[in-house]
Amino acid sequence: MDCIFCKIVKGEIPCFKVYENDKVLAFADINPINPGHTLIIPKAHAENLYEISDEDLTAVALASKLVIQGIKDALDPIGVACLQLNGKGANQVVMHYHLHLIPRGKDDPELPVSGWELKPGDMKAIEETAKKISSVIKQ
Ligand code: 5GP
Ligand code: ZN
Repeated sequence: MDCIFCKIVKGEIPCFKVYENDKVLAFADINPINPGHTLIIPKAHAENLYEISDEDLTAVALASKLVIQGIKDALDPIGVACLQLNGKGANQVVMHYHLHLIPRGKDDPELPVSGWELKPGDMKAIEETAKKISSVIKQ
């Protein structure tokens, strides 16, 4: 499979490694939004949240706690945005699950995805959509 992040896991493409364990790898994004922009991926290929196993998702979440603390201690950002995109329609470009950790500085412009205007919604429509989703969730 021609997956750039699988190649990074196999060492066929280099990366600046930040953290690694048997299930996950964290490395520097080469197009950083800010210094310290880090990606955490499962070593096993899964496209996105639809596909990733519970075990690997848990491993990514636990690694994110270690890495965010490292970013805080090393860079002292005012905040860190954790961002994860699912599907090309949501602008996912690399189709191997990855969680972005994006340190934020004091004078940074708002991230487009985190700076939306809060407009009160239609409560009826919100309720109906929530019900529509909850009624099809399989536990
Ligand atoms: P997304 O799929 O969430 O839009 O973002 C993919 C991210 O992967 C981008 O931020 C991009 O800079 C990063 N990326 C793409 N190719 C490489 C690569 O070869 N090495 C590294 N370190 N990051 C990459
Ligand atoms: Zn892959």
